Amino acid sequence: MLTTCFFVAAALAARVHSHRFDPSAYAAEDVIERDFAIIGGGAAGTYAAISLADQNKTFTVVEVTDRLGGHTRTFRDEATGASIDIGVQLHENIPVVRDFFKRLNSPLAPFQPADFGNPKYYDFTKKVALTNYTRPTIEGDYVAMLSKYPFLDDLNNLPDNVPKELLLTWPEFAAKQNLSSGSAEAGLWWPATPGNPLDATALAIFNDGNHVELAEYTGAAVRSATHYNSQIYDNALAELKEHVLLKSSIIAAQRGSSRKDGVRLVANTPSGRKLIKAKQLIIAMPPVLDNAKYFALDQKERSILSKLSGKHYYAGVMNNTGLEAGVAYTNVGQNTPHHVASLPGVVEIAGSASPGYFFYWYNSVDPQTQEEIEEATRSTIKWLQSESGAKAVEPTFQDFADYSPFHLSPPTSDIANGWYGKMKGLQGYRNTWYISSLFVVGSTQIWNNTRNILPEIIDAARC
Ligand SMILES: Cc1cc2nc3c(=O)[nH]c(=O)nc-3n(C[C@H](O)[C@H](O)[C@H](O)COP(=O)(O)OP(=O)(O)OC[C@H]3O[C@@H](n4cnc5c(N)ncnc54)[C@H](O)[C@@H]3O)c2cc1C
Repeated sequence: MLTTCFFVAAALAARVHSHRFDPSAYAAEDVIERDFAIIGGGAAGTYAAISLADQNKTFTVVEVTDRLGGHTRTFRDEATGASIDIGVQLHENIPVVRDFFKRLNSPLAPFQPADFGNPKYYDFTKKVALTNYTRPTIEGDYVAMLSKYPFLDDLNNLPDNVPKELLLTWPEFAAKQNLSSGSAEAGLWWPATPGNPLDATALAIFNDGNHVELAEYTGAAVRSATHYNSQIYDNALAELKEHVLLKSSIIAAQRGSSRKDGVRLVANTPSGRKLIKAKQLIIAMPPVLDNAKYFALDQKERSILSKLSGKHYYAGVMNNTGLEAGVAYTNVGQNTPHHVASLPGVVEIAGSASPGYFFYWYNSVDPQTQEEIEEATRSTIKWLQSESGAKAVEPTFQDFADYSPFHLSPPTSDIANGWYGKMKGLQGYRNTWYISSLFVVGSTQIWNNTRNILPEIIDAARC
């Protein structure tokens, strides 16, 4: 009897579940039929959407927050005219960047490192000013080493047989390769790098600090002319708004194994549940299991994606700090290996082009709350005020961003076992494509890679 009840319940549950993918169970306006479903509206998703729009393809973007842009975030105060980029700051000055900004009517200007202010160094943990310290710059031996492994710029090209030395931690690698102390230290200085840099592999350091990053920091970088890097995303949203579901997420999926099956997705949206029928699915959100588990993963997909995890990184904007304009207050370890700053803590408090406003970046191995981060940042500012003889004022926190999960990667042992090749092998599998930051770190490279893979994705939708 019990067994019969179980089978009846299971059959009912299966019917209820398959019902979710049946268009006749929805009002006509709640069924969205498109060529492509794009999940995530950050750098990758927005670039894909605009490119598809320009090729007269149909699509829906499903974005969990109330805006497009992802890691690109600009604090704007219409009353004061302040505009401060707190996430993405700059891009390489290459055609894919210039074309995208032009397409979205957002003017560019050359980026100068001094845009962040002139660096002054402190150990924020020990509360010491390091007046004699100067940050080293990358030397020729770093560049030579990077060039020796040309696949490091884009891990799509990583061989399955990964050179073992690249899986050493950066300090181990630097010691083994006799890197100059300047390069060994500067390799750990790439901006907005989450986690403990001393634990990062050489592979991760070079993938982040690659030829694009080097070019950007040696003069070939651009930024929004009005310090409004989010303008491209705001303009994209204004143009595409009827094709974008904000504050929405996917709660169930059916993905066929043949191209003619396409995909069916159930989305929770502010205007109720929608059924999305698409020929191809484009994943442009971080595909960590917490996000990807709603996409009916099979065993093969689950075994690959379950290895991914991201790190924690935070940022914010404040004014009324009492700090000196034009200075980038930079955290450095006084006596730590390679002068790495202690964690958790403020990485940098940098000036902006809007008078009185500073943005800060904050790094922590473990997750922290906004309250904890703002309290720690306030305490650092109070110490800087006393250290510099500035007036003791209370900083006002104006904006906050949590960029976790950031810098996704599998464990080192899985990299050694060909994880990147397996991940690449998922492209197109069960009508699903992955374009978010996995193989490359910066938005410039994400746009390049998305542009390169889109013809294949479009071709898959032809069947
Ligand atoms: C502080 C900081 C500074 C940076 N500076 C630069 C820089 O100067 N230059 C540069 O090139 N790069 C920079 N980067 C890196 C850059 O941000 C990333 O390369 C890029 O944003 C990654 O693009 P993405 O589309 O993969 O991810 P994101 O931009 O993070 O977009 C992912 C999107 O998916 C959405 N999402 C997440 N989960 C779901 C879900 N379940 N359902 C639907 N949507 C979901 C998110 O809300 C987000 O909008 C910086 C990053 C940080 C954190």
